Amino acid sequence: EAFVPKIIEVNYIEGSGDKRWSSRDFPWTKELEVNNKRVFGNHSFRPNQREVINATMSGCDVFVLMPTGGGKSLTYQLPALICPGITLANIPAAYLSANMEWAEQQEILRELNSDCCKYKLLYVTPEKVAKSDVLLRQLDNLHVRELLARIVIDEAHCVSQWGHDFRPDYQGLGILKQKFPNTPVLALTATATASVKEDVVQALGLVNCIIFRQSFNRPNLWYSVIPKTKKCLEDIDKFIRENHFDECGIIYCLSRMDCEKVAEKLRECGHKCAFYHGTMDPAQRASVQKQWSKDEINIICATVAFGMGINKPDVRFVIHHSLPKSIEGYHQECGRAGRDGQRSSCVLYYNYSDYIRVKHMLSQGAIEQSPMTSGYNRSNMTNSGRVLETNTENLMRMVSYCENDVDCRRLLQLVHFGEKFNSSTCQKTCDNCLKITSFIEKDVTEIAKQLVELVKLMGQRFSSSHILEVYRGSLSQLVKKHRHETVSLHGAGKRLGKGEASRVLHHLVVEDFLVEEVKKSDYYGSVSSILKVNEPKVRNLYAGQRIILRFPSSVKASKPGKSDITPAKGSLTSGKPNVTLIDTPPEPQTEVDLNLSAKL
Ligand code: ADP
Ligand code: ZN
Ligand code: MG
Repeated sequence: EAFVPKIIEVNYIEGSGDKRWSSRDFPWTKELEVNNKRVFGNHSFRPNQREVINATMSGCDVFVLMPTGGGKSLTYQLPALICPGITLANIPAAYLSANMEWAEQQEILRELNSDCCKYKLLYVTPEKVAKSDVLLRQLDNLHVRELLARIVIDEAHCVSQWGHDFRPDYQGLGILKQKFPNTPVLALTATATASVKEDVVQALGLVNCIIFRQSFNRPNLWYSVIPKTKKCLEDIDKFIRENHFDECGIIYCLSRMDCEKVAEKLRECGHKCAFYHGTMDPAQRASVQKQWSKDEINIICATVAFGMGINKPDVRFVIHHSLPKSIEGYHQECGRAGRDGQRSSCVLYYNYSDYIRVKHMLSQGAIEQSPMTSGYNRSNMTNSGRVLETNTENLMRMVSYCENDVDCRRLLQLVHFGEKFNSSTCQKTCDNCLKITSFIEKDVTEIAKQLVELVKLMGQRFSSSHILEVYRGSLSQLVKKHRHETVSLHGAGKRLGKGEASRVLHHLVVEDFLVEEVKKSDYYGSVSSILKVNEPKVRNLYAGQRIILRFPSSVKASKPGKSDITPAKGSLTSGKPNVTLIDTPPEPQTEVDLNLSAKL
């Protein structure tokens, strides 16, 4: 059917940079700081935390865009603790309530009714809000007694069909604002493109909402990808010796054995080095971590199990000895470097055979998970086929990141978080920007038009990688299955340079000419994404708008042609994800520790 993109006018107020919200003169400031220390053990606030808390406690609707690990939970847990009444938090974790006995639920509902309810935070699933009249009545009841303090929507991007993780039940959450128009809503997410953001604001019915967002870019981190050879360990030794001698760093390895081997080799080379992985007993791990924080050890060779809750400010380098599992994971692991804002290095050693190795290990479930993602994957073990599919997709994107030797590394990463980035801001702090000394500007409008045309010809039903395959003239089984070799633009882009078509397609998505729509076969079900045409934007293209991309001057300008058919290898799209699944489960420990929250 015809695809009509929604054009929504949304009013929101930029909160980042507004000094009002960082004031320490709010009536609750003292209590905030005391509880942040006493209850959560934090010595300070992270960027935007204080601002978000002040805005939501002032009664405003607030929309928060903060990187994973940035500390979103605190921005509602702390207000929940110190405000009178109850905070309702919607979290995308159906398994919590699915396991819960009805009697237990009754007990919580009864407690909510009591005059001095012991709970401060009520976690419910969006499904519950949509389907449980009992719950809605209970909320009404709280509201009447002025005990409904705040409504929190975590992972708010799930509201939007344009996002990578649409969950139908999230759309029902709009009812909360309708029923309780004066209760402040706090919506939080780590990923939102412009269209997702507007969708969320609209669907939740947020009013004059204040947006806090921070860039996911880390200007003091210098990124590079280096071909991994047999001499990799010598290269690492040399790199550390020349750039970070006697400084503190992390080397991420794929397997436990790798951790031990790399650590041993580097110790032989004279570095103060230890390993860290999941099979060590907790005392051993704690001891290594302690030695590291006291600078008795400089370098830790670790699996991704190492990292959560590590706040060492002076980590000067993060080295990836092998391919990370996803761009999100990579960004997060690199993010442990340079917390103090000083220049730090992120070096990734890449070869294609690591891809095969990681892929195999993923299929065997043999890769250690970071504590952050493990809960999520566990909850989906019933659908391990899908987990595998998503994992492979994420890994492919990582491969295409590594193989891209043209685009700014920052841009390639940030696109995954829905952030637009101007490569010239990189200032040659990544290998690709550094390498490319001169650019040519190339008009790719005709290629862009062909790609848009092809998306339409193919019925707006296919993923970007499939569209690229057809454009480059592939005769793969999938192409033949859909008889796409007969489509008129099949092979039209076969003369283009490697990665060129995918860069243009990527650009069309980033600039909203094409929209990625995520398809799911069931609630948590398998995911695929399809490209659709955003007609109003595309009209500009036909009305004379040109698309200019920069290429390194060594690349010859090439023209698309309509010529004979040659099979092209299955092509990877660069950068822009078809589907991204990052999801943090709620941390039950926090809830139990607080002993003030309930789950429904
Ligand atoms: P997000 O939901 O944004 O991904 P979380 O709320 O899960 O992030 O927080 C990530 C980690 O940061 C947690 O371990 C949390 O305890 C820690 N954290 C949050 N705020 C602070 C702070 N102000 N100081 C120190 N650690 C913090
Ligand atoms: Zn760059
Ligand atoms: Mg979170």
